[in-house]
Amino acid sequence: MEDKALCDICTKAKVFTKCLGCAVSLCEGCACFELIGSGCGCVWPAYYCFACVHDPHINPNAVFKESDK
Ligand SMILES: [Zn+2]
Ligand SMILES: [Zn+2]
Repeated sequence: MEDKALCDICTKAKVFTKCLGCAVSLCEGCACFELIGSGCGCVWPAYYCFACVHDPHINPNAVFKESDK
């Protein structure tokens, strides 16, 4: 039995967190950090995979990323 979980994206590094959108396991290098605003003035940190961080249905900040490129 394999004990240590590996990143689902690169399958090389240890799992650091999970994607908030699709719950895929992410290492520190593959996790995309975002600050999500709740609309009431408070923000909280979130981690997404590369696909979810660019999906406006999952990451409210994705629309801003598009024009940022
Ligand atoms: Zn990784
Ligand atoms: Zn994801």
